[in-house]
Amino acid sequence: PSRFAATPRGPEDAILGITLAYNADPNPNKVNLGVGAYRDDAGLPVVLEAVRQAEHRILQRSLDMEYLPVAGSHTFLQRAIWLAYGDDVMQRMNGRFAGLQTLSGTGACRMAGELISRFLDIPHRTGKPLILLPDPSWLNHRPIFTDAGCKVASYSYYNPLTKSLDIDACLHSLENAPNASVVLLHACAHNPTGVDPNMDQWAAISNVMLEKSHLPLFDMAYQGFTSGDMDVDAASVRLFAEDGHKIVLAQSFSKNFGLYGQRVGCLSVMTDSEQETQAINSQLKIIARPMYSNPPIAGVRLVEEVLNCDDLQQLWRSEMKSMAHRIISMRSRLRQHLIELGNKHNWDHIVNQHGMFCFSGLSKEQVDTLRERFSVYLTANGRISMAGVTSDNVDYLADAIHHVTS
Ligand code: PMP
Repeated sequence: PSRFAATPRGPEDAILGITLAYNADPNPNKVNLGVGAYRDDAGLPVVLEAVRQAEHRILQRSLDMEYLPVAGSHTFLQRAIWLAYGDDVMQRMNGRFAGLQTLSGTGACRMAGELISRFLDIPHRTGKPLILLPDPSWLNHRPIFTDAGCKVASYSYYNPLTKSLDIDACLHSLENAPNASVVLLHACAHNPTGVDPNMDQWAAISNVMLEKSHLPLFDMAYQGFTSGDMDVDAASVRLFAEDGHKIVLAQSFSKNFGLYGQRVGCLSVMTDSEQETQAINSQLKIIARPMYSNPPIAGVRLVEEVLNCDDLQQLWRSEMKSMAHRIISMRSRLRQHLIELGNKHNWDHIVNQHGMFCFSGLSKEQVDTLRERFSVYLTANGRISMAGVTSDNVDYLADAIHHVTS
């Protein structure tokens, strides 16, 4: 018999399973609002023009395909950190960032977890370091940090009654958490709720975290998707930097460069000295080497090319803006259509929430009915990927939502 014959079958990933079911559905009107990947107004995957041009320029150079160093491209790392923090913080930090190129945002979170579980200095350390996740958070966060050897708990974040941030409960739970915990923060465009703190609320969170000596671990997977502007969307991270936090930052380039399958990401850690930077860099390499040796080269070249060429960078920033604004306009159309249908519920949260997702408030039963009767696919928690809503399906979607909520 096979030595693996007793392997128990595990459950399908809650998000990726939706696409499998969607693909098998013969209904021509079917709508996939499950996965968080941007689509154009025809519902098609997008390769940005800036990325296409970068690809063309790179191809013309006939570059080799040798291994990158274990930590990936140094140029990319510097540009990625700059994109998040901007000139001022970069100047003030004077190069005191450790970090490495990662297998996108997932890999950046995982590497952060591995570093934290091995080396985070915790007073009276008794076992695994604690990482607090917002309630709710991206479904993959818990397994990522648990597998990395951390303990995971939640802090209050979302209020389902108001469909917005419960700032008092949030501050309260951060105050009541053990001192010097790690707190995971979504830098912008919170997944799955679409609810971000405003700047006053970020300032209050930053203050509590300073008082409690909590370590901010920012997950920045959607920079650009809240406002359309890369710098505006980085305001939370930059505020924490101004306030003197030592930030751990996981960046993904999947969404804002449309490089999903290329796996381009970055983990960076603010340090106090060159010596600390070198020590952390040495350990990150020791963690990465036995897992995958070195990161992929193709996607990172594209990002470098776009960020290194002024014309491409400008084009990319404007394309990022149009992606964000297409989603924003679909939010208003969806809400408007529900109002026109005479739906009795309040749908203001569709336009008040930001980024790729709308946390609709639809129940699991309503989500099931949407799928069974209308072939509209979303996650069981009622999260709608607004990136999948188009001029052609927005009215159909509104009709379907109206039907299940009337
Ligand atoms: N963090 C969050 C909050 C996300 O939503 C995602 C993508 N769904 C990621 C990280 C990582 O995605 P990727 O590995 O494709 O960069």
